[in-house]
Amino acid sequence: MHIGFLGLGNMGSPMASNLLKAGYQLSVFDLSSNAVSELAEKGAQACASVQALVAAAPDVLITMLPAAVHVKGVYLGSEGLIEQLSQPTYLIDCSTIDPHSAREVAKIAKEAGHTMLDAPVSGGTTGAQAATLTFMVGAAAEDLQHIQPILQAMGKNITHCGDSGNGQVAKVANNMLLGISMVGVAEAMALGVALGMDAKVLAGIINTSSGRCWSSEINNPYPDVLENAPASRGYSGGFGSDLMLKDLGLATEAARLSKQPVMLGAAAQQLYQAFSLQGHGSLDFSAIIKLYLKE
Ligand code: NAD
Repeated sequence: MHIGFLGLGNMGSPMASNLLKAGYQLSVFDLSSNAVSELAEKGAQACASVQALVAAAPDVLITMLPAAVHVKGVYLGSEGLIEQLSQPTYLIDCSTIDPHSAREVAKIAKEAGHTMLDAPVSGGTTGAQAATLTFMVGAAAEDLQHIQPILQAMGKNITHCGDSGNGQVAKVANNMLLGISMVGVAEAMALGVALGMDAKVLAGIINTSSGRCWSSEINNPYPDVLENAPASRGYSGGFGSDLMLKDLGLATEAARLSKQPVMLGAAAQQLYQAFSLQGHGSLDFSAIIKLYLKE
């Protein structure tokens, strides 16, 4: 099977490499020619434009782009993938975008005879490299079945979330909860320490009590509680605060369009927005605890 891959950034590049390792024929394109060259050195066919990628006639086309504006730009319009592809093609968008945009693009793809699936991921760059990503897939069950082996070459957990757009629904709901829980853990840890507790002892209590969650146990925001967490290395690496801000924005916008209240999600979004304004956007999202600590 011949796969086309568009968007070779922090996530796309290792995902595409894993497809090569699994033995797939691969054609790639990115606006960065360096990113394309790196994959070509590993055995992919380099394409210099969207048109060149289309001309390579892949059976399946995967995109991994920053945001909805890029996804719409690449798929829609007379120069876009949907219009340009002459044969019916499976289109898999792994970017994290809002569910409304995902459904809009999938509908246009279907009208043009293609099959589009939304398959956002979690697991970060580490998961992308290790081929252990979780895929949240929105599509008809039989369409997921058709492309399942491809996702298995890049990930470990592949979950069918329902029809088109539901992969993005799962992703925004999960990441909104993650943002809220991180702020909650930061607030509780800072309060406990301010009232006289040792941070490690407090984290131990939380992690064996009802406050326990991923943000307290795996990525505790208090410095030096967990040796390998970003908090213990100046909040470098990990999942950037600006990426969390983007996902919280997707959640609150999707909530606005469906008139669904997200009081805590909106509060978390505002906290990350203020944090980004202070110049901390590149720090791991657990650094939000800085809002609660004295310098
Ligand atoms: P990135 O910015 O590193 O990569 C995006 C790539 O898309 C870049 O190489 C860019 O040149 C390319 N691109 C942009 N517009 C293009 C166009 N018109 N044609 C061709 N190439 C184009 O982003 P990333 O970190 O790889 O994230 C990609 C997506 O995955 C985002 O939606 C992000 O929210 C999501 N995501 C990221 C992570 C993470 O930890 N980085 C984790 C889960 C999900």
